[in-house]
Amino acid sequence: MSKRIAIFPGSFDPITKGHENILHRALPLFDEIIIAIGKNSSKQNYFSLEQREKWIKQVFANEPKVRIETYTGLTIDFCKKMNAHYILRGLRTSADFEFEKAIAQNNKQMAPEIETVFILPIPELSAINSTIVRDIIRNNGDASQFVPVGIDLKAK
Ligand code: ADP
Repeated sequence: MSKRIAIFPGSFDPITKGHENILHRALPLFDEIIIAIGKNSSKQNYFSLEQREKWIKQVFANEPKVRIETYTGLTIDFCKKMNAHYILRGLRTSADFEFEKAIAQNNKQMAPEIETVFILPIPELSAINSTIVRDIIRNNGDASQFVPVGIDLKAK
């Protein structure tokens, strides 16, 4: 059987305990998970691509099944390039669900061989999102409890 490869796409600006939880729980399902930092987001990024990548590498340094890549263009095109048949996403809220549902259904239409797999975060992590973490940092607050252990948010 061919290797089960999943793409976990996102902006990871910065990586949070929510991302980390989804990734760890998805690991038993796949042979390899490629964390794919999208470079074509319409969002203005707060942390540089290099910094975001460095933190992700640090968090998953001891996890041989995790790879980190950056990409531009459609996620389904990147999946094909990586020979990945799964897209991994987390669902925090009903708003996430509506948004993700439309994307996953359109992706399915365009690339029937690729399945989107959703994982719900554990309740205590479902309120965490990178936008709030960035707001806390911008306003000189301490966001360290929301990001993986060992991440130094002052490293910007
Ligand atoms: P994007 O801009 O693609 O939404 P993010 O980095 O914000 O990129 O999120 C990447 C993925 O991680 C998304 O599927 C998002 O729902 C998921 N995610 C982010 N935070 C959490 C969390 N606290 N719990 C579960 N999933 C999360």
